Amino acid sequence: MSQIRLPETNENGYYEIRLESIGGLGANLCGKLLGELGAVYLGLNSASFSSYGSEKRGSPVKAFIRWCGEDEEIRINSPVENPHILGLFHEAMAGKQPVMAGVTEYTKVIVNTDSTPDEMREKLKLHAGELYCVDALKIAMEAKSRINMVMLGAIAKASGFIPMEAIEQIIRDTVGKKYPQLLECNLLGARLGYESAWGKAYRDDGKYEAVPYEETKNRWGYENAPIGGVNPRFGSTVSNDLSASREGYIPLFIQERCINCGLCDTTCPDMVFQFKPGEYKGKAAMVNAGLDYHHCKGCLRCVEVCPTNALVAGLEREHPDKQWFVRNKDLIVDRLEFEDAGANSWVTSESYLDERRIEGGVV
Ligand code: SF4
Ligand code: SF4
Repeated sequence: MSQIRLPETNENGYYEIRLESIGGLGANLCGKLLGELGAVYLGLNSASFSSYGSEKRGSPVKAFIRWCGEDEEIRINSPVENPHILGLFHEAMAGKQPVMAGVTEYTKVIVNTDSTPDEMREKLKLHAGELYCVDALKIAMEAKSRINMVMLGAIAKASGFIPMEAIEQIIRDTVGKKYPQLLECNLLGARLGYESAWGKAYRDDGKYEAVPYEETKNRWGYENAPIGGVNPRFGSTVSNDLSASREGYIPLFIQERCINCGLCDTTCPDMVFQFKPGEYKGKAAMVNAGLDYHHCKGCLRCVEVCPTNALVAGLEREHPDKQWFVRNKDLIVDRLEFEDAGANSWVTSESYLDERRIEGGVV
């Protein structure tokens, strides 16, 4: 493919892309594909790398891509601070991570969301820039593709210069070779992402302030870390909200079918199930009181293991009460009011957030 002319570059001569995501949504692969796309398919010089923690679903992931003309060299290996394109793989990250840091008036922000650009601007507190929305989750589910493929198509659309043919070719040459049976689904996901992404430009009207980019600092360093590097807070993922890791599905709990065998609890990697002292078949027993969706990453292992179908897979969007809870748990002041809204009060994070489990279990 002939060399693409970059529409704009920064003072170093680079066109830069940053992807902000949660482990499990495929931003790392998307970043690698964009890096390869620049070098092999667009005739540019290209560099890309990702930054992530424990390779666990739910942990923050960033991918950085830098392009420049073939007659220039990339001499910087640091994170992208002021991206031309910012891909946000889950809208739930807004406000929890400084995902908007470094956005300028020339940044094109692409968000996986079912909201409109105006609604999304409010959620992201975007001061200026072009905001593109694409319902990547819904498209990925319908096309049986992945969110990262849909985002790839949406990024091409928002860029205004990445040809969709190049995106399709790299999907064929990479993902298609590794997973040939999924090629058509992934191509469809990328095409639908391209067609569905729609955007709006916002000038700096003074409504929100620009957020400067800062490297995330570890809370513990050589001066204050516990001796031996021991983590004294066992169960320290207590406040870890994994809801952004789910890809459209949640386990639904049908209590009447439950025999309180505890298999779900031992299978679940994230301590989602809440057992409390109760009675089963006339005897004192630990009774399954439901799920804490705050910690559920939607892997559905519990559904596979449940012997009585007390856990079944459901579409998260068909259960807005749970979605509402996950997004608004900080607003709940009156549990009865919450139950009146039709929600299961045991789907709460109270026991976790109070760290009662650390102190000896749910009471
Ligand atoms: S595996 Fe199924 S039956 Fe057993 S405790 Fe969990 S939900 Fe109940
Ligand atoms: S889907 Fe089930 S096993 Fe997976 S995190 Fe959620 S509750 Fe745990």
